[in-house]
Parts: sequence; C-alpha cells; structure tokens
Amino acid sequence: MSEAMLNPAQLAAVHHLEGPCLVIAGAGSGKTRVITQKIAKLLSVGYRPKNIAAITFTNKASQEMRERAKHLVGNKAGQELVISTFHSLGVRILREDGRHLGLKEQFSILDSDDVLSVLRDAGGTTDAATAKSWQWTISLWKNQNLSAQQALAYAKDDNERAAAVVMQRYQERLTAYQAVDFDDLIGMPLKLLQTFDEARGKWQETLRYVLVDEYQDTNAVQYELLKCLVGERAMFTAVGDDDQSIYGWRGATIENLKKLPVDFPQLKIIPLEQNYRSTSAILRAANNVIGSNPKLFPKTLWSEFGEGDPITLIEADGEEHEAERAVARIQSILANHPTTKFSDFAILYRANHQARIFEQALRRAEIPYKVSGGQSFFDKSEIKDLCAWLRLLVNQDDDPAFLRAVTTPKRGIGHQTLGHLSDFSTKWKLSMFESLFAESLKATLSSKALHGLHEFGRYIVDLEYRARHAVGAEEGKALMMEWLKDIGYEQHLMDSEENEKVAVARWGNVLDFVDWVAKRCGGEISTEGGITTESPRQSLLEVAQTISVILSLAERKEEQDQVVLTTLHASKGLEWPHVVLAGVNEGLLPFKSEDEDMTPARVEEERRLMYVGITRARRTLAVSTLRRRKKNRETVVGIPSRFIAEMKLHESGIKEDPREKLKRMREQLAAKAEASAAAQAAAKKLG
Ligand code: ATP
Ligand code: MG
Repeated sequence: MSEAMLNPAQLAAVHHLEGPCLVIAGAGSGKTRVITQKIAKLLSVGYRPKNIAAITFTNKASQEMRERAKHLVGNKAGQELVISTFHSLGVRILREDGRHLGLKEQFSILDSDDVLSVLRDAGGTTDAATAKSWQWTISLWKNQNLSAQQALAYAKDDNERAAAVVMQRYQERLTAYQAVDFDDLIGMPLKLLQTFDEARGKWQETLRYVLVDEYQDTNAVQYELLKCLVGERAMFTAVGDDDQSIYGWRGATIENLKKLPVDFPQLKIIPLEQNYRSTSAILRAANNVIGSNPKLFPKTLWSEFGEGDPITLIEADGEEHEAERAVARIQSILANHPTTKFSDFAILYRANHQARIFEQALRRAEIPYKVSGGQSFFDKSEIKDLCAWLRLLVNQDDDPAFLRAVTTPKRGIGHQTLGHLSDFSTKWKLSMFESLFAESLKATLSSKALHGLHEFGRYIVDLEYRARHAVGAEEGKALMMEWLKDIGYEQHLMDSEENEKVAVARWGNVLDFVDWVAKRCGGEISTEGGITTESPRQSLLEVAQTISVILSLAERKEEQDQVVLTTLHASKGLEWPHVVLAGVNEGLLPFKSEDEDMTPARVEEERRLMYVGITRARRTLAVSTLRRRKKNRETVVGIPSRFIAEMKLHESGIKEDPREKLKRMREQLAAKAEASAAAQAAAKKLG
C-alpha cells in the first residue's frame, strides 16, 4: 500500500508533520488508514520506530495495527514501534518508573473480581450489589481524575459520601498490596509525569511522535496523560469521529474533542469526506440516523460504490426465529456468491447475552463462528459440564468426558481413585469406562472407591437406556430435568458460587440449554401460513449424537474463516462485507434498563451506537427487529426501535426477505381458500 492509495485530504494529514493534527471524520473515511500511513511517513523522514507511539482503543486493534504496520514498513521496524492501548502503555510506564510513586517493578494488576473483593473488605460488606455500585462510582471518579479526598468534598449525597470513604480505604489497601486497578494504569502514570520532571522528560524523549486512533472515546484522564506525553512540542495526530463516541458510560467525554483546539491553538484540523467502506444505500441510512443527533462537527460523507443492495428489514417472531433468519440469510448469500467466506459475515447485537441464540442456530447449521470480545455460551463451564455428560452417553469411551462427568458434581470419588483408574486403563489399553467393571481393578482399589465407581457406571448405563427411549421434546426435557435432579446439579451451582445471583444466572443457562436440546427432540406442532407441521421426532440419545458432532466444531478454534458474533461496542473500527444488526427493538437498542429514565443524552449515545453498527457493513446490511421478545423469561410484544424509522428505508425501498414474501403469499392464499370455502358453504345453504 503506497501513498497513492490516499486521497488529497488523507495525504494532507499524513504530510502534516510540524505540530498537532486532528482528523475528524465519519465512519469508514480512512482515519485508521491515515494513522498507519503516517507511521510509514514518520519513518521515512528519520523517526526511529521506538520513538513512534500509536495508541489504539483495544488490544485487538493494536494487534491489527501492528500487522498493518509490519506490512507497510517491514517486520523489524514494525515490531519496534510502540503500538498499544492507553492501558498497556500505562503498564509500561509504571513498570519502568513507578518506583517514584513507591510502586515496585513487579506490582500486580487487579481484575474486576479482585477489585470487588478488596472493596467488600474495605467497605465491610458481603453484599455484591453494593460492592459493584462502589466499583462503578469509584471508577468514574478515577476517570475524572478525582482523588478520594476530592470525591468526598464533592459528594452529592450519603451514598456518594459512603463510596468516597470506601475509596480512601480501598486505595490504602492497594498501596499495601502493591497493586493497581485498571483505572490506575492511566491515573498513576499521569500523576507520575505531572510530578516528576525527570520521568516526564524521559518519556517525552522516548515517544517523540504520538498517534491516537478513536480519539472520541478517550476520557479526561487519558487526555491529560496524552498532554503530558506530547508536552510543549505537541507532535501528535489524533483521529476520531464525534458521532462514534459510545463510551460515555465509562467516562469518555466529547469535551476532549472540544478542548483540543483550545489547548493547542496551532492544531490543524482535517476533515475527510469520502467513505471507502459502504454502498450509498448503507451510508444514507447511517447519515439519516445520526442526523437526528445534535451536530458537534458537521460532516458530509459520500461513497463512490453506487447504490448497492437495498437494506433488508427482517421482522422476526421471536429470538429463535430471528437467529434462524440470520443463518438462512448467511447461507443464501454464501450459496449465491461462491467467493464469499464465513469471515465476511458479522452478526452484531447490543448486549452479550443476545449471542447465545445465534450460537445455537449457527451450530445447528454447522457454520463456524467466533464470539468476539465475550464468552461463548458453549464455553461456559456449566454448559461444558452438561455437554460432557451428553458426550459420555453417546460414547462411553470418551475419557475426557468421563473425567468431567464423574467429578461434576463431586460424588466422593477422589483424585487418587481416578488416578488409579487412569493408570489401570492405560496399562490394559481400555477406556476408563471399560475399566470400571474389570475384575482385576478390585486389586488396586478399596471397596468403597470401587462401589462409588460402579454406582456411577450403572447410572450412566441406565441413563443411556432412558435417553434412547425418551422421544420428542416433552420426554426429552423431562428426562434431562430428572437427570439434573439426580445429580444435584442446581445445588452444585449454588454451592460453588459465592454470589447467589451468579449461581441463579448459571442455572438459567442450564435451563436454556435443556430447552435447546429438548426442542431438537422434535414433535412440536407449528402452524404457518395455514399449514400445520410437526417437527420430526428423535430420541434424546440421537440428539446427543448430533450435538456431539456440533460441539466438536467448537474445538476448531484456530480456524480463521468464521462468522463473527460481537457486540456493537466491540465492533468499533471494524468492517465486514455482510452485516446483520440484530434485536433492533425499543428497550434493546436503544437499551433501557428497568429503572432507568432515558435522558436525551442516553438516547443520543445509543443512536451513535446504531450509527456505528450500520457503518460496519460494506456491501449488504440486514436490520432485524423482534415482533415478540423475551423479557425476564416472559414473552412480551416487541416494539421496533425508533432508529429503524430514522433510517428512512422507504427512501430507497426495503428489500423484502424472500421467505417473508413466501410466507405472506401463503397466508394470502390460505385466506382466499378460506373465503371461497365459506362462500361455497353459504351458497350451499342458500341453494
Ligand atoms: P471507522 O470510523 O469505522 O474507524 P475509519 O475512518 O478508520 O473507519 P478505515 O478503517 O481506515 O476508516 O478505512 C475504511 C476502509 O476504507 C478500509 O477498508 C480501508 O482500507 C479503505 N480505505 C481507506 N482509505 C482509502 C483510500 N484512500 N482508497 C481506498 N480505500 C481506502
Ligand atoms: Mg478506524
């Protein structure tokens, strides 16, 4: 990629080397490309790779930027560049110079769970919700660069005062433990550079040029840190889009964009207007939506790609139907465009929990996928437990499944016993299950241990028999519930989780899994377009067999060619040829929690999220909304998001989904047939 691949505005940004530069432009206009090209430019005018820092928003974005940079400037230079997030740069600064603040080189970094436990301790509470709310409040204060004393002085009410007091004790504990939390990774380097001239001088010498991607999502402390790093020389380039600011809830502030020209009067501001990502249909919808927000930096965005396919609106009857439709769409695009790959597709949603149903549908269709930036439903330990049991029913010689099932929940069979069993099975080239009933095993195990193992073995054999005869959804579900009761799985979750809410949520996952498996046992009756069908019946064991195949798909992790499932937040900066935007409903997007008042500012942030989602798509976009949706395990009427109306799809004509069209035609035919039958009957009566 050479500079010839840049337009004049991008070139101006790349060539502006003396003094600060801000590129402010809409989605897909090549801002990130400006950063990588500018790195190459800086190297060509004599900067050394280790003196150039590029700051990205996520670790993943850092990796990608490093790959792009290596491609451009070669492996060696690419490796030496300082490409990191604000947080990882903070770690580096603290490791090298934290001693000024009394921090040892080997300080530890607390994750969210650690923080909660220190907070419980500091605040003298066992209540998880209280600790969680302190965590939020303290984090927001830290992101606004407030100390515990300042927080106490500014506290508005008793709750805030209590949190400020806890914050003070929390900080004392962190100091004693030689530990820092995530927010300290920015706050402490800032304090260090502000207080110690020598350290500041050193870092300003080291990072001679700084580039920042996704600048709109920096918070107040990150901005101050940036100012300290670039110093008076102010050699930096920031790129961003105020319309894509989506981390306000984490303290990011658009003020940073407004401050920049004030703090750096010599700032060169460069707008970019050409979008190189999306078709005009997609871009128009995006512009229409964001047009409802107040404008900070007015922008025009156009694309040369032509109109492209109209945006598809999917109206689904429920979450599962939505997932089926999304999968069908992927399959149909794959079938019609042979060069398309799985990795050309992304399904985007507002909240992590929405991923599960898509995962299940994709597995059923044997389409490889990865859940990006969140945990896959099938990777959750409770689901892995149940899968191990199902795998063992299908194939008793599956040793890993055997080991997991026999120990989850614990049934008094200890490690030593299992160690003996494992040695025995290796020696005689048997599976562990086969070894259970071997005569000669008696010689190595106590009769108590043996009894436990035999009991387990018999239970599995019995369960297999019952699974073979449990046909249809109802029976399949009943058997699974019986089995979970037999093994005391719910209690096991309650015992192994400190936090009851988490345990309940995990049990909820188990119930979801049971429903999913049971449904596949068939026998469900549905009526669509006047035609009644019954799904084919299978035994639970047969279903377990197919599920085992589907589950092994998960093990092919290293595979790159996968459909991506990700939240809108984590999709920032990325692009795919085909995107499905799921769950575009009031309450989901814009997201609204139970007790929340939707302020205009909140709606505006959600609208920016919608804008981010739409603008991830390059060629086709499907927006899907639920006519009915689940809310706390109940089905409620789904209201299409206001953002769908704001897209003004009628301007370009909505493309009707072929299946939707077929369904509509069927319904019309059925209605006609009914009407003519009624007319005939009436005629007969009269005649
Ligand atoms: P976002 O706001 O979503 O982060 P962005 O402004 O950073 O988007 P890029 O990701 O840099 O945009 O670019 C979008 C797409 O356009 C990429 O596929 C990129 O390779 C391509 N692109 C950028 N500039 C040009 C150009 N001058 N000519 C052709 N393609 C370009
Ligand atoms: Mg970008």
